[in-house]
Amino acid sequence: MRLFPFLFVLVLSLGQSVGRAAEPLKVVSDFEGASVREVEIDQETRTISFMPGGDPLRGWPCWWYFRVDGLTPGEAITLKLRGSSVTVPTRGKPLGAEWAMPAQATFSTDGKTWLHTAKGKKQEEWMNYSLQVEGTSAFVAWGPPYTPGMASAFVKRMAEQSPYASADELCRSRGDRPVPMLHVMEGDRKSEERFGVWIQARQHAWESGSSWVAQGFTEWLLSEEPEAAWLRQHAEIFIVPIMDIDNTATGNGGKDAQPHDHNRDWSAEPHWNEIIAAQRQVQDLAVEDRMDVFVDLHNPAPGDPTFFYILPSDLLKEPMIGLRDQFIQLSYARISNGKSSIPMSSKSKTTGPSYHPLWHQMSATWVCMNANPHTVSLCLETAWNTPHSTTEGYREVGANLAATVQEFLAGRPAKP
Ligand SMILES: [Zn+2]
Repeated sequence: MRLFPFLFVLVLSLGQSVGRAAEPLKVVSDFEGASVREVEIDQETRTISFMPGGDPLRGWPCWWYFRVDGLTPGEAITLKLRGSSVTVPTRGKPLGAEWAMPAQATFSTDGKTWLHTAKGKKQEEWMNYSLQVEGTSAFVAWGPPYTPGMASAFVKRMAEQSPYASADELCRSRGDRPVPMLHVMEGDRKSEERFGVWIQARQHAWESGSSWVAQGFTEWLLSEEPEAAWLRQHAEIFIVPIMDIDNTATGNGGKDAQPHDHNRDWSAEPHWNEIIAAQRQVQDLAVEDRMDVFVDLHNPAPGDPTFFYILPSDLLKEPMIGLRDQFIQLSYARISNGKSSIPMSSKSKTTGPSYHPLWHQMSATWVCMNANPHTVSLCLETAWNTPHSTTEGYREVGANLAATVQEFLAGRPAKP
C-alpha cells in the first residue's frame, strides 16, 4: 500500500534528472580583478576555450580569472587555455604561454577557499584543466586571487582584531583607488627606538601569490607567538599587500606596463603614486637610521623555486653585505624547512646592471642605495608553479619570513 507513492516519486525524480538538459555554461568576468578573452563555449562537450585578458600596455597578459556559471553539480567540464596572442610592446611579440599556464589551475566555489585542480594536460598550444565541483558556479584563476577588496577587508579585519595594528592608507593610486596598508607596533616604546620594517607585495599585479605571502607575514606578526610579540614591541612594521592597486583591480598583468612598471619606478621622479608614497616613508625611516629590513614580495618565472634577488656584492659595502647574507641564511633555514614544502633555493640571483637596463630603479636596489649602511633590502620571489603554491603554502612562507625578521633583529644592537 505504501509502496506505490514511493515508486511514483522515485520514477518522477529519475525522469526529471535524466530528462533535464544541463544548464548552458556561462563565463562571467564583470568583477574586480577578472581577466579573460576570446571565450568560446562548446555546450555539447562542456568545454570553455579562452586566453588571458588584460591590456598589454598595462602589463603582461598572463593573469586570468573568471567565474563559470551553469555547472551541473558533480559534472567535469574542461577549461581549455592558450597563451595570449596579443603582442606585448616591450617584446614585439606575444608573451610565452608558460607564464599563463600553471601545472594546476586554481578554483573556488565560495571565493574564499581556493584549491588546485588536478594537473592540466598539454595538447599542442592548449592546456586542458578538468574542473569538477559540487555546485552550479565556480571561480577559476591562474592562482589564488588577491584583489584590492580582499586586501582592504584583510587590513580592516586585522586592525579590528588586534590592538597593535591600525588600518592605514599608503596613498591613493593614479586611478584614485585607496592603497591599503597595515601599521603595527605594540607598547610605549618611541618610534625612534624601534627597528623599521617594510614589507610590500604586488608591484607586479599578476603575481597574486606574493600578496598571500604578505598576508601570512601579517598573521604571524599579530599571533600570540612570543617572538611575534617581541617583534611588535621592538619594531614598527609597515605592510602593503598590494602596491599596483589599479592593475590588480582591473585584471591587468602590471609587469612591463607603460611607461614602466612599479618595480622600475624607484627613481628620483617616480611616475606611480604608490612609489612616491613608499619612498617617502622609507626615507623617513632612513633619516632616523632605522630602515632595518625592507622586503619586496614577488612570484618568479614558471620553473623557478623560491629565492632572493640581490645586488652583486661589488656594488655594496659592509656591513650591508654581511647582514644581508645573514638574513638570507636565516630565511632559507626557515622557509626550506616549512611544512608546506614550497621549494626554496639557497642560491640568490643577482639584479645588477646585466639584469635589466633599469636595474637601478628597482625597489630593493633603490633602498640599498638610499637607506642606511646596515639596511637589509631584498626581493623575495616565491615559487608559484608547484603543488604547494596554494594560499596555505604562500602564507606559511610569509610566516617563516616574519619569524626570520624577528630572529635577525633580535641579534642586532638595540636602538639607542
Ligand atoms: Zn615581479
